[in-house]
Amino acid sequence: MIEVTNLDKFYGAFHALKNIDLTVHQGQKVVICGPSGSGKSTLIRCFNGLEWHNSGRLVIDGIEVYEGAKEIRDLRQEVGMVFQQFNLFPHLTVLENLTIGPMKVRKISKAQAEETARNYLDRVHIPEQADKYPAQLSGGQQQRVAIARSLCMETRIMLFDEPTSALDPEMINEVLDVMVELADTGMTMVVVTHEMGFARKVADTMVFMEAGQIVEISPPEQFFTNP
Ligand code: ADP
Ligand code: ADP
Repeated sequence: MIEVTNLDKFYGAFHALKNIDLTVHQGQKVVICGPSGSGKSTLIRCFNGLEWHNSGRLVIDGIEVYEGAKEIRDLRQEVGMVFQQFNLFPHLTVLENLTIGPMKVRKISKAQAEETARNYLDRVHIPEQADKYPAQLSGGQQQRVAIARSLCMETRIMLFDEPTSALDPEMINEVLDVMVELADTGMTMVVVTHEMGFARKVADTMVFMEAGQIVEISPPEQFFTNP
């Protein structure tokens, strides 16, 4: 699904990603961890065209990704992303937040989009919030709306960039629980997180980054027993 070969990325003169090699297969759950500033966010932002690499190769679901590639629209239909800050439209209701993308991008009718949206609101356990505005919801509820929004786009890969870091402690588990349920559906997931309990439960591959490099890729059994 995701094939990264020899990838390098610079911000000006700053070498943010160094010689990254990583393969993610369909259905795989990869958890990326490592210190702040090590390049985790930059790496996954390259996976949906929010950042561009400078050299090396990145192929996602058969799409060769590079700056200016015509297929980038297709890429964004394949790859969803959930951010630390929920990035919902504040002036739209929950239901509108969930339907606007699919209506535009997938060109489905409003009725169809709303049916899909309500279905996914059920899946993230907040069916009753459809007509509220984001500011009327808790952080945990907003993040579950953000996950539902990505699901409504029917993407095949979901990226999570520290999805629980902006949440109050009591809301972290409600979001992680939804992510565990999503993992159980077979979704391909790449998750940047410091939540090691979640990683132990869900990850089949742990990636540890430091100073722009991947310094370890291992199964969780091995990762969590290393000294
Ligand atoms: P992480 O997600 O591991 O915290 P990031 O990928 O956000 O790390 O950042 C890696 C490094 O790249 C950091 O030193 C950060 O300051 C730098 N960086 C990130 N985004 C930019 C940018 N847009 N311009 C310049 N430097 C950036
Ligand atoms: P995260 O914790 O998710 O990695 P950051 O706080 O590092 O996010 O960065 C937030 C935003 O600021 C990102 O869009 C990133 O690209 C940008 N950014 C981070 N570091 C720098 C930097 N040194 N110069 C310019 N932009 C930066």
